[in-house]
Amino acid sequence: MTTMTTVATEIAHFRTLASRLTGTALTYTRVVRTGAGQYEIECSGCGQGHREGTVPFQSDATDAARTHANGCLA
Ligand SMILES: [Zn+2]
Repeated sequence: MTTMTTVATEIAHFRTLASRLTGTALTYTRVVRTGAGQYEIECSGCGQGHREGTVPFQSDATDAARTHANGCLA
């Protein structure tokens, strides 16, 4: 029996600005594809993520994640 999976698959990740500045904190902003075939951004630094909602296009999600990572000081 097959069940619907809700496992999110990581597409890309970008180290946060804080991570790059300190060189110690390994925080990054991830782009994940949800089980529904949409994209979400999850930031391990500041916890920003699901409240941003889903993005239908991978390119948009990747751009948003990169932009967030470049400014995230968490
Ligand atoms: Zn962040």
